[in-house]
Amino acid sequence: MDLTYPPQYEDFRREVRAWLRRNLPARGHGLGGLEYDDPRRVERAKQWQRKLYGAGYVAMTWPKEYGGQGADVLTQAIVHEELVRAQAPPLIGQMGIQMVGPTLIQFGSEEQKRRFLPKILTAEEIWCQGYSEPNAGSDLASLQTRAELVGDEFIVNGQKIWTSNAQFADWMFCLVRTDPQAPKHRGISYLLIEMKSPGIRVRPLVQMTGERGFNEVCFENVRVPCENLVGELNQGWQVAQATLLHERNMLGAATTTQELFARLVRLAKLCTRQGRPAVEDPVVRQRLGALAMRVEAMRFHAYRQLTTTVLGRPRGIEASVNKLVSTELNHDITGCALDLLASYATQTSESKFAVDRGKWIREFMFTLGMIIGGGTSEIQKNIIAERGLGLPREPRVAPG
Ligand SMILES: Cc1cc2nc3c(=O)[nH]c(=O)nc-3n(C[C@H](O)[C@H](O)[C@H](O)COP(=O)(O)OP(=O)(O)OC[C@H]3O[C@@H](n4cnc5c(N)ncnc54)[C@H](O)[C@@H]3O)c2cc1C
Repeated sequence: MDLTYPPQYEDFRREVRAWLRRNLPARGHGLGGLEYDDPRRVERAKQWQRKLYGAGYVAMTWPKEYGGQGADVLTQAIVHEELVRAQAPPLIGQMGIQMVGPTLIQFGSEEQKRRFLPKILTAEEIWCQGYSEPNAGSDLASLQTRAELVGDEFIVNGQKIWTSNAQFADWMFCLVRTDPQAPKHRGISYLLIEMKSPGIRVRPLVQMTGERGFNEVCFENVRVPCENLVGELNQGWQVAQATLLHERNMLGAATTTQELFARLVRLAKLCTRQGRPAVEDPVVRQRLGALAMRVEAMRFHAYRQLTTTVLGRPRGIEASVNKLVSTELNHDITGCALDLLASYATQTSESKFAVDRGKWIREFMFTLGMIIGGGTSEIQKNIIAERGLGLPREPRVAPG
């Protein structure tokens, strides 16, 4: 087994690293996380994405005619690794780049691809995901937001919840019920909805991190042109699944976990236990060792997945394994950091006693959310059990 990249890719890596050294926003750039409450911050985040795109480092695998470079997955993987390594700010247009963009490439009409893909890359249009509803989370197919086809328009009524980024998004990719009589998975369609359409109301929800990352979105007689339907009418479930697969891959990035763990080790060197660096304490070492083994296992799993993609083999349940393992591991890493920080753990960035600018407590809460978002751990385990291991399906409980 050879886990190194071919030499030409290492040349490319050096190029990306040098570019990042010259262009990375200054430390304390304030572009991290979901805390895009301030329009100036949104604008700065868009500028960063545009700059990265200008350098050719965004969505490199997309076809050239839609603004990509037709590059291979190894090239893109290197860029991703270097961005994480440099602790570059996340991309504000991530849901467009990693979720709806690839879905449109697979299922969209030619007009939809030409209309939407280039503006996703340049951050001219930011996207949000309208899947969950108050009574449809894990059981997503129970969604009730209704879209009725009247002439050449859909009229949308209903409510979405936990919609990340809806407070500044320009567009939503949204699941709607178009045939209430059909079995629940067969009456769903996938619509692209402009967020400034009359009849849309966005109400921010405050997360336990104190940030307003997600929202409630209500639709009252919202008109959506029928050319914004992706795939066939009532066949949206299949399209939605493709997006979910991309989302799970996005949430389960091995490099992000490696970087988080490297920061934890640095913290263990900084904190003290009985007057000595915590990293020398046998109990701390044991805990770090156990986490290190999980990080390594995840790294090898990511390489296996990369190999599968490079060889063009069909993907199985890897995205669910990725999502399950990485989100739980990220949360455990941040939990270990809080234990190391002990009474300093609760100090947020404003406090003069804060270590690492108070990031760990925020990340502990944020990573808990990531275990739930994109499908909870229990749901990923069901998918792995049923589709991966061929175990019997869990009994479906009849409604009512
Ligand atoms: C930070 C964050 C961001 C999010 N962003 C978005 C977004 O942008 N767009 C969007 O549409 N949604 C978003 N969500 C919503 C997310 O997809 C849902 O919260 C998630 O799918 C779970 O649904 P629920 O909250 O309704 O919980 P429920 O489905 O009610 O689940 C409650 C509990 O029951 C368990 N459970 C449910 N069914 C089963 C089962 N069959 N077997 C075993 N256990 C089960 C679950 O694991 C969970 O522990 C976000 C959520 C979070 C936390």
